[in-house]
Amino acid sequence: MSRETSNAWGRGEMYETLCLLVIGVGIWFVGVTLGTFDSLQGVIVTYGLNDLLMLAACMGLALCGASVRKSILLRRLMLERDAAAAQAEAISRHDGLTGLANRRRFIDAVGRSLSAVTTGSSAAVLLIDLDRFKPVNDLYGHAAGNAVLCAVSERLQQLLPSGGVAARLGGDEFAMLVPVEQGSEGLTRLAQAVITSIAVPVSWNQNDLKVGATVGVAVVAADHADADAVLHAADLAMYQGKKDGRGNYRFFRSAMDEELRTRARLESELRLAIETGAIEPYYQPVVSLPEKEIVGVEVLARWRHPTRGLVNPAEFIPIAEETGMIADLSYNLIRRACIDARAWPSHLILAVNIAPHQFQDAWLAERILAILTETGFPPRRLEVEITESALIQDLEATRATLLSLRQLGVRIALDDFGTGYSSLYHLRELKFDKLKIDRSYVDAITMSDERAKLVDAIIKLGTSLGLSTTAEGIETDASLHWLSDQGCNFGQGYLFGRAMPKAEIDAVLSAQGDLASWPAPIDAFAEAS
Ligand code: C2E
Ligand code: MG
Ligand code: MG
Repeated sequence: MSRETSNAWGRGEMYETLCLLVIGVGIWFVGVTLGTFDSLQGVIVTYGLNDLLMLAACMGLALCGASVRKSILLRRLMLERDAAAAQAEAISRHDGLTGLANRRRFIDAVGRSLSAVTTGSSAAVLLIDLDRFKPVNDLYGHAAGNAVLCAVSERLQQLLPSGGVAARLGGDEFAMLVPVEQGSEGLTRLAQAVITSIAVPVSWNQNDLKVGATVGVAVVAADHADADAVLHAADLAMYQGKKDGRGNYRFFRSAMDEELRTRARLESELRLAIETGAIEPYYQPVVSLPEKEIVGVEVLARWRHPTRGLVNPAEFIPIAEETGMIADLSYNLIRRACIDARAWPSHLILAVNIAPHQFQDAWLAERILAILTETGFPPRRLEVEITESALIQDLEATRATLLSLRQLGVRIALDDFGTGYSSLYHLRELKFDKLKIDRSYVDAITMSDERAKLVDAIIKLGTSLGLSTTAEGIETDASLHWLSDQGCNFGQGYLFGRAMPKAEIDAVLSAQGDLASWPAPIDAFAEAS
């Protein structure tokens, strides 16, 4: 209680007591005036203190009343304070929206079950993360999002076994702490039931709101240092479930921790590698068909790792994309490749891979132009390879970027054609110069009639749209002859050369010898397109 409040309370009390005393005096006065006390005259006379005694008695009675009233008031105040404290405690341990336990209470409960492990009782944590919750929130607004969260919490409470705790840990993340009674089978059944029940659409304002759930399960074990460690284990399992395609459940395995540590190490090593230039450009020749003369090279990234040797892009490009490091990696590589390629015959085309994510950068064309200007490499010798997934991510952003690149004079190739989702619409709408037929088709042309028909159709499609075609992954003479016969313009593959470092491609190019005998590949490209 503050000092001000307690002063006010003291003053109020004094005032109240004085009032009661005045009332006591008043009663005495009225009693004396009306002769009400006459019946007591005998007693009073005995003591000889008649009026004074009555006055004292009346005032005593008033004081007595004051103290009874005060203790009733005090009791009521104590009850109110206890109720407020209990309410504050409940608020601090429950989620305001769903009424489930909050993270603090859940951590306490997990801590208690961890202590109980030594006594033989067993429990598990199910970490439940909603899938596709953000689109619901973005599309229908927060009220719809809240309706989904409340529905999910009700469903979890219905599935909660007795003795369990259901919690909302924050955002769209829920958790259950459950006793393990039927071993992992019981947990599996529960995890499946959670996924199935959350997948049932939530009706809201005549809309069916659909979300899903990915569940990570961790059994509380004595080797967990604390409750946070249990939650971390469940989190790793859930993360694995997300990686495996969502809408599923995963049990924690100790290897997951190791995998995550490895991945974190790889990320920081990659960051350093990009900064120190340990990501090197390798060059794979692209030849004209059927002449087999080098008309260009594709730049492929290689990581010269201090302990693991040369690492292939399949291992680090996805990490660079996920972490946003791809832009730095890519620009460094293009810069180095442009510098290397300046020394090569001026008709050679330099093809670079640009990740789908980079096409969302409105400044991509300007950044590439800056590199070309800085290195003095002509835009007409640069070809940008884009994969089909860039078209799916944001068609409008990709279209604008491609247009800016084409205005610079840069060529555009659609890479790995046939593996993604590009449609005829994309081919017509976005002006490509070239289709690169994915090597999975080329691999099999001599083995499968079906594949051969598809490759033939792609080449014809390219020709009819005015695009040149490059077949990737040519490894045999048989494939080479077949592709040449079908009219494929260019080829790339181990048959002509693998990706190689600058020194080797320099040697290959100079072995091609007298530049005069080379066709003018710019024209060759132009002819084909
Ligand atoms: P891609 O752009 O389709 O590159 C062709 C891949 O096929 C290269 O693999 C190349 O070494 C391989 N290849 C070429 N000829 C043959 C062959 O005859 N047989 C077989 N089996 N394979 C062949 P690599 O270098 O491992 O690159 C894989 C993918 O990584 C590339 O596919 C590209 O999508 C990506 N990548 C490579 N470097 C970069 C980069 O700097 N930036 C971005 N965004 N992606 C890159
Ligand atoms: Mg490529
Ligand atoms: Mg490719």
